Amino acid sequence: MSNPIKLKGEKFLWEMVIGLEVHAQVKCKSKLFSGAACDFGAEPNSLVSFVDAAMPGMLPVINKEAVNQAIKTGHALNAKINEISVFDRKNYFYPDLPQGYQISQFKSPIVGEGWIDISLEDGSSKRVEIERLHLEQDAGKSTHDQDPNLSFIDLNRSGIPLMEIVSKPDMRDWKEAGAYLRKLRSIVRYIDTCDGNMDEGSLRCDANVSVRTEGDVLGTRCELKNLNSVKFMMKAIEFEANRQIEVLEGGEKVEQETRLYDPNKNETRSMRSKEEAHDYRYFPDPDLLPLHVDLQRINRLKKELPELPDKKKERFEKEYNLSSYDAGVLTADIQHANFFEKVVVGRNVKFTANWIITNFFGMLNDLGKSIDESPVDSEQLGELLDLIQDGTISGRTAKDVFEEMFTKGGNARQIVESKGLKQISNTDELEKMVKDVIDENNKQVEQYRSGNEKLLGWFVGQVMKKTGGTANPKIVNEVILRLLKN
Ligand code: ADP
Ligand code: MG
Repeated sequence: MSNPIKLKGEKFLWEMVIGLEVHAQVKCKSKLFSGAACDFGAEPNSLVSFVDAAMPGMLPVINKEAVNQAIKTGHALNAKINEISVFDRKNYFYPDLPQGYQISQFKSPIVGEGWIDISLEDGSSKRVEIERLHLEQDAGKSTHDQDPNLSFIDLNRSGIPLMEIVSKPDMRDWKEAGAYLRKLRSIVRYIDTCDGNMDEGSLRCDANVSVRTEGDVLGTRCELKNLNSVKFMMKAIEFEANRQIEVLEGGEKVEQETRLYDPNKNETRSMRSKEEAHDYRYFPDPDLLPLHVDLQRINRLKKELPELPDKKKERFEKEYNLSSYDAGVLTADIQHANFFEKVVVGRNVKFTANWIITNFFGMLNDLGKSIDESPVDSEQLGELLDLIQDGTISGRTAKDVFEEMFTKGGNARQIVESKGLKQISNTDELEKMVKDVIDENNKQVEQYRSGNEKLLGWFVGQVMKKTGGTANPKIVNEVILRLLKN
């Protein structure tokens, strides 16, 4: 059982209720209703067809690939795929959507109810239900900070297909919300229907937050718009829940409204109230027929799904005998999982998993790099691990070699040779050095022999110093113990 965080107000203990609306840009070649390309970072207004620019008389044509991607995502969310769905016009003034309305799906979305399981910190898991997934157009982008008098509009994003994935209000604190968003991102990356990149805005999240005393009916919610990182989303929810508690305990009512989170001040501010915003006057778009997808196509797309995160984690636990935690870390990201599976072939599993999780992922994390950008590939890392395993270098030295490979490039073997980092495991050679250390330090030898055994570490340190850290510490230990006894 999960144990969600409760917030203590002045008077009561409060429970949070959270539902997320996630916008995921569909990974596909062209826009939802035109043939213009969907690339990120192109010259402004270079990827705009007459449809995207809303020229009079232009007609939208549905993009089959985008529909397939939405269906695949629906399957991965264990959801019902609707054979018939309808595109509606959502009337709303977006300065960067020239049609004057957005084509979306309202009453009949392409994907109905589903669920995903999330893993929580205490090792438990929880099912979060999904209300729907629908397809809609993205708007363009306005820039207001390039000129004192002018705003610029880039329509490249206008018309890019978006999947809006709406959860039920099933999450009970910000950690559950964070786990849900991470899991959703992991899934769309596994099935390659969205690149999941929150920095570039391909994945964006609105969080609906309300609070209630335990067991009470649902409270009035506020919607926090456009949260663009998991971390900020979690902070925004925490702030907002505390704000609502203060309002309620002060005897006032929470107004249903849309609020914006300011990460610099860590607070949410009112953006618009419900009354002003929500009369979209949806109606079926007369330019588009209802969308039919036959069962055969739906089933074929289901069969094409790759192994999903939960299944992969289960397999890693069984096949590699990894702990649930390690398997979870290794399979959270498809590329991480693939990397591990390449390196582990023919190598010790536990050792490889530990090294990848601690040192390799640790380094990527420290430098803020994704695995694509890693200068060390799976083969190069494998070579380094072999050098540790066959005793050529110590684990300590390996970390330095790895850092050099990562920051300056090069292969492990070359670096070890050129820098003379080979571990000295030759007992005779080490014995000679230990004897030197003993001869040079009579005082410490006496202290050791009269019972100060803590000095053992100090002797090891002296030998390590002499060898620039390349002595095999295990053998040094043995030799010192033996020679100091005499
Ligand atoms: P709208 O279209 O007005 O945003 P929806 O019914 O689509 O309304 O709900 C949007 C989101 O709000 C859903 O994710 C849902 O789970 C969540 N939600 C609904 N009621 C509450 C509530 N009382 N507290 C928190 N979240 C809620
Ligand atoms: Mg909404």
